[in-house]
Amino acid sequence: MAIEDDVLVIGGGLAGATAALAAAEHDADVRLLSYKQSTLRHASGLIDVLGYTPAGEGPLAEPFEAIPDLPEGHPYERVGVDAVREALLFFDAVAGDAYSGAHTESNALVPTSGGTVKPTARYPAATEAGLASDPRDTLLVGFHGLPDFDAPLAADHLEAAGVPFAARGVTLPFPGIRRDDAKVTRYAHILDRDTPVDTGVGEAPARTALAETVRPHLESAARVGFPPILGDENAGVVRRDLEERLGIPVFEVPSGPPSLPGMRLEDLLYGALGEAGVRVTTGVPVVDYELEPAADGVESGAGDGDDTDAARIDRVLVDRKGREVPYRASEYVLATGGLVGKGIRSRREPVPTDGVDDAATHGTGDDPASSPAYRSSVGSDGAPAEPRTATGSEVDEALARRSGRVFEPIFDCHVPHAPDRYDWFVDDAFGDQPFARYGLTVDRELRPLDGEGDLEFSNLRAAGAVLGGYDYAAEKSGSGVSLATGYVAGSRAGERATEDAE
Ligand SMILES: Cc1cc2nc3c(=O)[nH]c(=O)nc-3n(C[C@H](O)[C@H](O)[C@H](O)COP(=O)(O)OP(=O)(O)OC[C@H]3O[C@@H](n4cnc5c(N)ncnc54)[C@H](O)[C@@H]3O)c2cc1C
Repeated sequence: MAIEDDVLVIGGGLAGATAALAAAEHDADVRLLSYKQSTLRHASGLIDVLGYTPAGEGPLAEPFEAIPDLPEGHPYERVGVDAVREALLFFDAVAGDAYSGAHTESNALVPTSGGTVKPTARYPAATEAGLASDPRDTLLVGFHGLPDFDAPLAADHLEAAGVPFAARGVTLPFPGIRRDDAKVTRYAHILDRDTPVDTGVGEAPARTALAETVRPHLESAARVGFPPILGDENAGVVRRDLEERLGIPVFEVPSGPPSLPGMRLEDLLYGALGEAGVRVTTGVPVVDYELEPAADGVESGAGDGDDTDAARIDRVLVDRKGREVPYRASEYVLATGGLVGKGIRSRREPVPTDGVDDAATHGTGDDPASSPAYRSSVGSDGAPAEPRTATGSEVDEALARRSGRVFEPIFDCHVPHAPDRYDWFVDDAFGDQPFARYGLTVDRELRPLDGEGDLEFSNLRAAGAVLGGYDYAAEKSGSGVSLATGYVAGSRAGERATEDAE
């Protein structure tokens, strides 16, 4: 017996969590299935909507003025500018006072640990006192055990970038931590619990000891910035306690990975999922799917663009320690991430044209080992399978050496890409990299389209980094796209599922 829900979301990152929350708003029964950790834990915790145009113009002060000019196929063009606004409002309601920036549509400029200034739409409340538009003189504090945040260098870079304040940096010992390899969570937990630490002249609670270590270096600073280690579960309490002891505002400078602000955002979203009644199952990969049988007993076929003609997914199959467990829903959301999250994969050789990746091989589930695209792409541990050797005398060897395939491993949705791997990249590492835009193409309801522009399935929507048509790293739009498309995909799936149930 399949486990049944109204909406099934695959992927537990920002896009999947948002889709599940949005679907639950429509009173749908929602389940979220996720495999490994998402990029939330590595990302900065900032919600970037659009910092630069695809042509590299920016930093943008007004992202919503630039969105209508984005090219056709960009995820924001697909959902429309109003949906991006709605998705941010939805996020604001979920995040409450943990995030700031909702008072304006303009981008805020947030200093980063590298000493650059980043345009972003929403930022953790812990970041607020550090905005680069604020003219107050600033002390940045780094710690010997956290070499990724070089406070003096970051301060120099900020001043060189022309910020409207004097910035100074110091590197200090962190009271109670002598090891160079302590995890960021160790710093946070010591401060969360205000653990007594050895100060060299006796013991003191950790926050008192930290304030006393920093105080002699304040001089004329009117605010002080730390790496993002100021507590985890009690982050707000830790920050306010330090502010009281130091007498000036305290802020965190986003950095990563691993990133405590990203982990805090993950906790916030998963707390909201629990409150919304979403059933969450983690640690299991979806590996295959089966189609709904059509009325005449034949599988529903690929559509010609008409919603009613397109194939419908009946169930997905989840690998639980080698056993396949079916999960069924009336609507599905694919939010498995991009090349980083493994929602999009690549391999060197072209797929043999023996029907292995033909969608028609899916559907019965009689022979699970037969040929799902997922299993042809990954080993039993989920790692990429060994590249196959191109065979066949008709294949031109030189071309075969250069050819490759980019694909979506669960449903084998179409991913437009150049057949020659050498065309996926340009030599200039900072250049416009075509592979960064590889992902699914979708209609305005975010339903994946095949190579002919027809719907792949009528009850599948896609959200987040699995989508193509944008370069999140260059545009600084990663979280914004995940939010906007997760919100739209989840809302439409929830609406449709509850309509169907009536
Ligand atoms: C290091 C780093 C830093 C970043 N910094 C920023 C930043 O500062 N600001 C910003 O806006 N954006 C940033 N981004 C980008 C941003 O994190 C992503 O664009 C976006 O959040 C992607 O979210 P997602 O939910 O689409 O995918 P992901 O976060 O990749 O999540 C995909 C999820 O799907 C799961 N999954 C995959 N395959 C399966 C399967 N077969 N079955 C079940 N589950 C599956 C994965 O395990 C994962 O949980 C950063 C990204 C990285 C990697």
